[in-house]
Amino acid sequence: MRNFMAALVAALIAVLPVRATEVTLYNLNGEETTVRSGDVKRMRDEGWYYFDEIYTVVYSEDGRSLNALTNRLDEWKSVGWHENLSDVQTTLYSEDGRSITVWNSEVEAYLAVGWYRTPEEVHTTLYSEDGREISVWNAEVEAYLAVGWYRTLEEVQTVLYNENGEEKTVWNTEVEAYLAAGWLRNRPGIDASRPMVALTFDDGPGPYTDRILDCLVNNNAKATFFVVGNRLGRYGAQLKREAELGMEIGNHSWDHANLTNLGAAALSSQINNTNAKAQEIAGICPAVMRPPYGSHNASVRSAAGMPLILWSIDTLDWKTRNADSTYNAVVSKVKDGDIILMHDIHEPTAAAVERIVPELVRRGFQLVTVSELGQYRAGGLEAGRVYNSVR
Ligand SMILES: [Zn+2]
Repeated sequence: MRNFMAALVAALIAVLPVRATEVTLYNLNGEETTVRSGDVKRMRDEGWYYFDEIYTVVYSEDGRSLNALTNRLDEWKSVGWHENLSDVQTTLYSEDGRSITVWNSEVEAYLAVGWYRTPEEVHTTLYSEDGREISVWNAEVEAYLAVGWYRTLEEVQTVLYNENGEEKTVWNTEVEAYLAAGWLRNRPGIDASRPMVALTFDDGPGPYTDRILDCLVNNNAKATFFVVGNRLGRYGAQLKREAELGMEIGNHSWDHANLTNLGAAALSSQINNTNAKAQEIAGICPAVMRPPYGSHNASVRSAAGMPLILWSIDTLDWKTRNADSTYNAVVSKVKDGDIILMHDIHEPTAAAVERIVPELVRRGFQLVTVSELGQYRAGGLEAGRVYNSVR
């Protein structure tokens, strides 16, 4: 054995110096040549290069790779090749917590069988009644719901009131302690045995929102504002004021799209982006939705995950732009349990509200939010269900 090893080492020593002195060089035409190491400097002066100096590995979206002349890289890129592996691969996620990296050309096929592009799509945030929050894989959601976790904050929080009419949102587990300390489940001054209606304002916030809020506050009235997400930045002050005054903020889509025309992804971003923006600006996540044009179908009802609120009195204020007409549309037929549709982006509507609100109060109507109307008249509103009135 020892003799064999010695022979092997001798053979290697015999071979290595020869191989070590040979160097392969390349020219810009892609030709190669092998020269002795002593000739390398001269050859390089004459336009020959080491491999890495003139070649770059490029990748295709279906998983091929090749060595491209670096000075021709732009030509390769122009026909769909990429310099970085990360440009031709995509990481996808499954609802049970796996992830996989595939060639871009395979992505559509993977999406079709239940993989997703973002970790957000395969996670769901759940809430507990004592204020904890957890992010779980979608595949685990049902198991968590079965042991007392909930999909929405609204389900684990309760709004309570004190004698001064101040509101406080508390975790469900805290409710008993608050009630014992004198807080109330219902807004004081609301009498379930007396008539009540819900004024609703769509398409804002806008330049007349403050005027309408002034009128509501002066009459100790509440209303619901179905806001459009892409207006919330510009009219953030109005949105905050709505929230601070205890008005209900509802979701009226991101840009007033007809939601029945949208695919699943566009539909959920219309809803979720508006909720997120309202939460960001005013600290309130809408819990009721009014689809633009009142237009809905099974997909919209399911994606909303909230009660869908339509109306029983349509003032057509957007069309007439006439305060008398809007006023008459309400006072001529208003009755207990009505949901009244107006828009806080028109000046004649603000003028009409300044007459409607005192007149309804004079007639003994209590002006409540949509959720309050649902609470008093139906014991609460159900997600996915459509309401024109609540009586
Ligand atoms: Zn609208």
